[in-house]
Formats: sequence, C-alpha cells, structure tokens
Amino acid sequence: MAVQQNPLHVVVVGAGLGGLAAAIATRQAGHNVTICEQAPALGEVGAGIQIPPNSARILERFGILEEIKSLSVLPNAFIIRSYKGQELNRQPMLPYCENAYGAPYLHIHRADFHKVLVKCAESHGIKIVLNAHVNSVDFSAPSVTLATGETITCDLVIAADGLKSKCRELYLGHADPPHNTGDLAYRILVKASDMKKDPELAKLTEVPMINYWMGPGAHAVCYLLKGGELYNIVLICPDNLPEGVALQDADLQELRDIFATWDTRLQKLLELVQQTFKWKLQNSEEMDSWVHPEGRFVLLGDACHATLPYLAQGAAQAVEDGAVLGGLLGKVTAKDKDNLRPLLDSYERLRKARTTAVVKGSTALQNVFHMADGEAQQERDRVLLEDKPMEGFPNRWRDPVFQKFLFAYDGFKEAEREWDSVLRRQYE
Ligand SMILES: Cc1cc2nc3c(=O)[nH]c(=O)nc-3n(C[C@H](O)[C@H](O)[C@H](O)COP(=O)(O)OP(=O)(O)OC[C@H]3O[C@@H](n4cnc5c(N)ncnc54)[C@H](O)[C@@H]3O)c2cc1C
Repeated sequence: MAVQQNPLHVVVVGAGLGGLAAAIATRQAGHNVTICEQAPALGEVGAGIQIPPNSARILERFGILEEIKSLSVLPNAFIIRSYKGQELNRQPMLPYCENAYGAPYLHIHRADFHKVLVKCAESHGIKIVLNAHVNSVDFSAPSVTLATGETITCDLVIAADGLKSKCRELYLGHADPPHNTGDLAYRILVKASDMKKDPELAKLTEVPMINYWMGPGAHAVCYLLKGGELYNIVLICPDNLPEGVALQDADLQELRDIFATWDTRLQKLLELVQQTFKWKLQNSEEMDSWVHPEGRFVLLGDACHATLPYLAQGAAQAVEDGAVLGGLLGKVTAKDKDNLRPLLDSYERLRKARTTAVVKGSTALQNVFHMADGEAQQERDRVLLEDKPMEGFPNRWRDPVFQKFLFAYDGFKEAEREWDSVLRRQYE
C-alpha cells in the first residue's frame, strides 16, 4: 500500500464487487476510504460469475489472485453449441489466456469472490459501514446523508450503488429507472454428484468447460464451480415477468417447457433443478457524463453502465473502473481536493467509451445467440463451423480483435498513461 502523507477521505457508496474494487484501489493509493452499504450484512446474491483476464489482472495487483484462483475452476475451453447439441465453435482458454494475456480466466461462486474482496478491504483498514442506506448527496461539501440521518463528509464520493442507483438519480435530478432488455435469466446450481449418476451428464463434469447452447429466443450458459462440485446454469429467455416485478419464484414446469426441444443433456439437467428464480435483465443507456461539475462526485460500475451479461463482463468492467480511478487517485493528495475535476474527467474519458462498447456488444449478442431457425441462423452456424476467426466473428471470444480489446486491457497501465500524457502537467 502506498504511503500518503496527506490523504483524501473517499466515501464509496455500495459494497458490491465494483464498490469494493474501487475502495481497495483507492486505499492502495494511500487514501482513507469509508464504504456505506445499505445491507445489514455483507454478501452477494446469485450463483457463479466468470472472471476474465482483464479483471484477474487487477485482482493480482490487489494481491488476492492466488486466493481467488484457489476458490475457482479454470475452464479449458469455451464451447458454443446449437440448441440441438451440435458443437459449432470452440475457443481454448487454458493455458491460452495466461499465455496470451498473462492472466487466467476463472469461474467462481459470487459469494467467494465477494468474501475475498471484503477480507482484502478490511485488511487494508477500509471502514465498511452496514445499514448505511445513502438517501441524499451534497455534491459541494461533498457528503452523503444516510437513512438514519447521519451525514458523512469527505473529499470525494464514488457512487457504486448498482443498477437501481439512488446516487445516479440524485446526480441527474430526476427518476432514472433501469431499462428493460426484453430478456430474463434463471440462475441455477445443481450438484455435480447428481449429474454423475447419468453417463451423458457425467461427461459435462469431467473436464471444466464453458458450455453455451444457442436457440430461438433463448440461450444457456453452464460451467463448473466450487472444485467441480456444483454446476452453474444460467438460462436466458424472453421476459414475461409482470411490469415492475424484477424477481420472482420460477415455475419449474414453465422452465422445462421452454427448453423441451433442446439438447437432451440440457433437458436432463433441468430435471435436476429443485428451485430457482426468474430475474428481469435490465441495463443502462449511455449517460452524458458520470462526473458532477463540482468535481467531488463520480459514478462507477452498474450505477452508470449496467449491461446484459452476455459477454460476462459487467463486474469485470466495474473492477476496471476501480483500478483506473484508484490508479489516478494515487497521483494526488488532499491538497488537490478542490481540483479533482480534471482527474475525474480523465477517468470518465478512459472508461465511458470502453464500457459503452461492452454494453452495446452484449446487446448485439442477443441477436446472435437467439436467432430463429432459418437462413441467418444457417449462415451463422456455417461461419462458426468454418472457424476462420476474423473481426466480427460471431463467437466474440474468438474474434481476434474483440478478444484483445476485452482481455488485454490493463486499468492500472491506462491510469499511468493518462497521468503521464495528460494530467501530470495539471497537477505538478
Ligand atoms: C445473470 C447475470 C450473470 C452475470 N454474469 C457475470 C459474469 O459472469 N461476469 C461479470 O463480470 N459480470 C457478470 N454479471 C454482471 C455483474 O453481476 C454486475 O455487473 C456487477 O455485480 C455490478 O457490480 P456493482 O458493484 O457495480 O453493483 P452491485 O453489485 O449492484 O452493488 C451495488 C451495491 O450497492 C448497495 N446499494 C444500493 N443502493 C444503495 C444506497 N442507496 N446506499 C448504500 N448502498 C447501496 C447494494 O446493496 C449493493 O451492495 C452478471 C449479471 C447477471 C444479472
């Protein structure tokens, strides 16, 4: 951790994956950090999460990659199948990602990922205040006021309060509910020991893979978790949740009916499901800016660039935000507290174009994954089977240009470059 003689006091709103990453990067830069989290206890809902190399690289800088790796499964390859089960395309991942990008591709349970970040934050002396729902923000002071009435004054507010961000609405000055994408997700865990009773399903548990199935209006993503003991299944299909309902108990028969004509392996997997939920998938439209004009407030993570999960990059982008912001904040001290605007503008410039490309790239995959049977689908499958990866290749993880764009990004290096080329002369 850097030693700062004259540290800033930074308040981070939200202890999700993005808020924690921003807090750790800012603390490693030597500043004092308080996280305000509305929940009464720390934790993460949901099942598995994919950590791509662009995020793993940052976790290494936090000094937690080895621990994260020890709790993860490393997939050998990324396999895309048609909904009837035919393998259409394959991207090797192990040891490819480490060789090509110097960082691994990992599958981990969200709760484990979150726990390691919390432990890292606490070990660095970051103060995490629970039951701390931020109700209002004073953008000049700056300060946040909690539902309890307590006001916390600081030098900078980083708002990482997620998709339904209260801070975003306060900053915009009007209601700004998330946007419906037309899809919903079922997030499921089944025991690998149950799969092993069926020879066809047992094969899915033997060598860790990321398995995708693409079909009309829907797709499935499956991978192993927890040392291979659990199988994580995400099923995406058209949103039929009532208006205003974001989460609902799932009817298992309805779920099985949606996939009744799909690969028998998937149907057998769904027979093993005992209980799950339907989650409405929502995202953001690009904002004009993430930085308050007074230069003491900035947005981060899903609060400003929520995305469909189809590129498995939402949390990774939030972690990158944290690295860039922390990297830049490492260059300033409390003497600069009234002049943070240029630094925050740089953060926004570095991050907004990239995260918008990820949001748009994820939305575009909706069409690729969910094609109805017909000419366009046959052409997609022909190109995938021919396997001549070039720019625009439908397996986006095998498109050489897009893959590099996603995986090669180094948030800390970006911050260094920006400091040397733009910011140094404004602060020194
Ligand atoms: C089905 C699905 C699969 C996904 N898979 C992947 C994947 O494989 N890889 C990947 O990188 N991403 C994935 N994502 C995306 C990823 O989950 C999100 O992008 C990421 O969790 C966002 O983190 P965040 O910290 O910005 O927001 P959040 O995780 O939403 O955290 C916000 C935090 O702020 C707190 N909060 C909210 N309001 C307030 C308030 N007013 N005051 C105080 N605290 C507040 C909340 O309690 C919460 O703790 C997936 C998403 C979905 C839906």
